[in-house]
Amino acid sequence: MKPPIFLQGILFDEKSSFLRGPSKAPAEIRAAYHSSSSNYFAENGLEISPDIFEDKGDFKIEEYFDIERITASNLNKNIPIITLGGDHSISYPVLKALYQEYGSLEILHIDAHGDLYDSFDGDRYSHACPFARVMEDKLAHRLVQIGVRTMNTHQREQAKKFGVEIVEMKDLDLQKLPVFKNPLYLSVDIDVLDPSCAPGVSHQEPGGLMVRELLHIIQHIQVPILGADIVEYNPERDVNKMTAMVCAKIFREILSKIITNN
Ligand code: MN
Ligand code: MN
Repeated sequence: MKPPIFLQGILFDEKSSFLRGPSKAPAEIRAAYHSSSSNYFAENGLEISPDIFEDKGDFKIEEYFDIERITASNLNKNIPIITLGGDHSISYPVLKALYQEYGSLEILHIDAHGDLYDSFDGDRYSHACPFARVMEDKLAHRLVQIGVRTMNTHQREQAKKFGVEIVEMKDLDLQKLPVFKNPLYLSVDIDVLDPSCAPGVSHQEPGGLMVRELLHIIQHIQVPILGADIVEYNPERDVNKMTAMVCAKIFREILSKIITNN
């Protein structure tokens, strides 16, 4: 039987604006996932053991747009793919690859940041820019962001220009989450979490989600998930690998959601 989900790790953090480190994340997340300090079960009772997905392995990236080519080679239509980053710049080439199979998607982007800069530090492919590129290329017909708490004037203008639906952290009501009707791409930037529960990120932004709240948002997705990523975990900033364990739990919950909904 064909595994129902593909996994790839993208070892790339050269588009990070502040610190390096997320290229080391996939190995640490895998180790936390296999750690005997927990088990393979998701909270809904599904066992997310290694035999339910096909691990394509980790890919060291020389050139940014190699990410698109590698993702395309790891992709089969109608088999969801989950990517472990890497900084958030990886989502744009990953979504370009998915576009070739599925056309434009709806995206749920969970992040402390809008990542909508036209350019950042002179780089239009910075990890601060991927969703500006996604919207310009019309890779998504709907982009919903949850947890943002760093909006400046430029990014508000960009959000308005692209019609991005933003549920800012200060306005988040877990009883009134956005509803999706079409298959989804889910992008989880771990810095959406409060630094008190996920210190292992380059940009620690206070006032974020608790892990429980992020789990709630993922567990309440009602539509199929065609692709997902977990990005911006920076092992060099972690404390006792606690953020790696958070990433591993989020990984299990996303996989169980894919199995349940698809
Ligand atoms: Mn981000
Ligand atoms: Mn972020």
